[in-house]
Amino acid sequence: MRRPLVAGNWKMHGTRATVRALMTAVRDGLGDNRGADVLVLPPAVYIPDAVRLAEGTGIGVGAQNVADQDQGAYTGEIAADMLTDLGCAHALVGHSERRLHYGESDALVAARFAAAIRHGVTPLLCVGETLEQRESGDTEAVLAAQIDAVAEHVDGEALTRGVVAYEPVWAIGTGRTATPEQAQSAHAFIRARLAVHGAAATQVRILYGGSVKPETAAELFAMADIDGALVGGASLKADDFINIIARAV
Ligand code: 13P
Repeated sequence: MRRPLVAGNWKMHGTRATVRALMTAVRDGLGDNRGADVLVLPPAVYIPDAVRLAEGTGIGVGAQNVADQDQGAYTGEIAADMLTDLGCAHALVGHSERRLHYGESDALVAARFAAAIRHGVTPLLCVGETLEQRESGDTEAVLAAQIDAVAEHVDGEALTRGVVAYEPVWAIGTGRTATPEQAQSAHAFIRARLAVHGAAATQVRILYGGSVKPETAAELFAMADIDGALVGGASLKADDFINIIARAV
C-alpha cells in the first residue's frame, strides 16, 4: 500500500519570523496520529529553522529545488549533498514556476532528478500541462514527454524511488482545482508511463497539486491513483494545511 504524502510548498513567501511561526503552528496543531506522511518545503534559507523546529515530530523538511551538478562553480545553486547536510531528504524538481519563469527544460529537470537520486535525496518530480495544452488535447503527450525526459537519465529503479506531483498549470494559484476525475485520469496515465520505463509503478506515490483546499481534498484523496497532495497557498495557513492532512487516510 502507498502511504499518503501531503507536502506544503511555501514558495517564496514569508520572513524568518513568519516561517518559524508557521512551522511551530503546523507542528503543534498536528497530532501524532497521522494518516499521512507530512513534508514542508520552506524557502531554502529558512530550511535550518524549519528542521530545528520539526525535530522529533516526524515532519519532513524539503527543498524547492536541487542542483543538477554535484559541486562546483554553479552560482546560486544548492547541491543535493548540501541539503542532506541540513537534514533535508526531499526536493522538488521541475515545478512549473521553475519551468515557466526560469526556463527550466525537461532535460535540466531530468538532470536535477538524477542528481537528487545519486545523493540519496528523494526528488518530487512536478509535471503538468498548461490550459492551452489541455484544450488542444495534448495533456497526455506533455506528461509523457516530461516523464520520458527523466527516464532518459535514470533507470526504472531510480524512478521508483521518486515521487511524482501532477500539477496542472491552470490549477495552480487560480482557485480552479482539477476535478477528481480529471486528476485521476492524469495520475493513471502517469503511473502507466512510469511502468513503461521499468519503474515499480504501483509503489510510486503520485500527488495532486493545484488549488487544493480542505473542501476539495477528501474527494481528490478518494481517487485510486491519488496518493496525497502538493499544497501551495493553503499550506501557508496552518489550520488549512492540517485540515487537508486530516483528510488523507
Ligand atoms: P496552489 O495550491 O497555491 O494552487 O499551488 C500549488 C503548487 O504549485 C504547489 O507546488
